[in-house]
Amino acid sequence: MALKLFNTLTRSVQEFAPAGPDPKKVGMYCCGPTVYDFAHIGNWRTFVFADLVRRTLEFSGYDVKHVMNVTDVEDKIIKRIQEQQTTLREFTGRFETAFFDDLQALNCRRPHVTPHATEHIPEIIALIAKLTARGVAYQAGDGSVYFSIEKYRGCGCVYGQLQKLKVDELRVGERVAADEYDKEAVADFALWKARVPADGNVFWPSPWGEGRPGWHIECSAMSMKALGETFDLHLGGEDLKFPHHEDEIAQSEGATGRPFVRHWLHGAHLLVEGKKMSKSLGNFFTLRDLQAKGFTGREVRYLLLTAHYRETFNFTLDGLRSAQAALARIDECVGKLRELAAGAPAAGETEAPWLAAFAAALADDLNISAAWAAVFNWVSEMNKRLAAGSVTAAEAAAALAAWTRADSVLAVGAKVEAAEIPAELTALLAARQAARQARDFKRSDALRDELKAKGWVIEDTPKGPKLKKA
Ligand SMILES: [Zn+2]
Repeated sequence: MALKLFNTLTRSVQEFAPAGPDPKKVGMYCCGPTVYDFAHIGNWRTFVFADLVRRTLEFSGYDVKHVMNVTDVEDKIIKRIQEQQTTLREFTGRFETAFFDDLQALNCRRPHVTPHATEHIPEIIALIAKLTARGVAYQAGDGSVYFSIEKYRGCGCVYGQLQKLKVDELRVGERVAADEYDKEAVADFALWKARVPADGNVFWPSPWGEGRPGWHIECSAMSMKALGETFDLHLGGEDLKFPHHEDEIAQSEGATGRPFVRHWLHGAHLLVEGKKMSKSLGNFFTLRDLQAKGFTGREVRYLLLTAHYRETFNFTLDGLRSAQAALARIDECVGKLRELAAGAPAAGETEAPWLAAFAAALADDLNISAAWAAVFNWVSEMNKRLAAGSVTAAEAAAALAAWTRADSVLAVGAKVEAAEIPAELTALLAARQAARQARDFKRSDALRDELKAKGWVIEDTPKGPKLKKA
């Protein structure tokens, strides 16, 4: 089934087909973190969305090369290291480690290539040199090198491909040095920033003197190095459309004269408790904040995956509690199937009808609500049959195989139970069992209460007692 995705370039849902010689190979770039702080839940929405895109492509039989950069030199980073009197590497290293830990907690597949800006200074310099040689970049009086929007447009190129910009009102030669600026400030932007005292020790030599790269050029240099001058998919949060992605297109197409990216995908914003996230409103959450409240990465992932990627999503703590209930329904059904299947070979085909509906939903511009509906219909149906005792071991194994296929995209499936229960609790369960066998019911009840206090209940099954989350 053809995969259809919305393309920001054409503002329409289009069939996705890789351009390369191998029709199964996809190059995909997602703008990575700027490692100056812990990523917040709005950032995580984008990375979970990127993971959904990658997993959907892989589910559809594509061989994806997933590239995600790490921005480890940029205005905000320099400001923080000056404030905290630390070194660039020490400062960014800490947040980079935290980022990848969180990415794992959210069960996102790790990108295959994670290039760092500071390790690509020669590539960045070569790209800027290409732009100056083509006449679309120039060194200004402040020593910095800027991209000339006027010259670029003069070559017949379009600035403002992802969204409409008022480039006609542009005052020629007006410049913006900051990495982040808004639409009202459309102007020549910095590619190479000449060294200033506030940069401290953060600078590199270049043909234009000591300095450091601008943020936008980092992504052009690293994406083209990893994926070629033209590649299939570029993803990011919608807040990056301008200026970051517009500038990436301008720099890349200005240097190569070829189309940069064929298909752009943007994930929508996230609100928290109905409002824009802000520290002063108390609705600003990192993944760690949510974990401290007792929620897991798996629950956060589930909740982030309940909304369509192009819709603004209202993230709430109530939503997280509902996520727990929804996941418990899946876990219970899958747990029973596992018990029943107990290693039996699967009967029948794994392409169950519900799985076909699930795949069709994803192929339709990642219609995740319809995909979840297919999952929960299956859970209801399966629960009825399980309650009626009409599922054979082979059927249970086949059902599990289909669920495993779907979960290769959703990635919310519980780990095999034994691995999930902490050893300390298994020990308590064994002690309670021993107490019962010794007919020491007082002790066995005390151990049961202790387990209950830790959030676990004992379920007696034909195969002996088992622990279950209360
Ligand atoms: Zn980028």
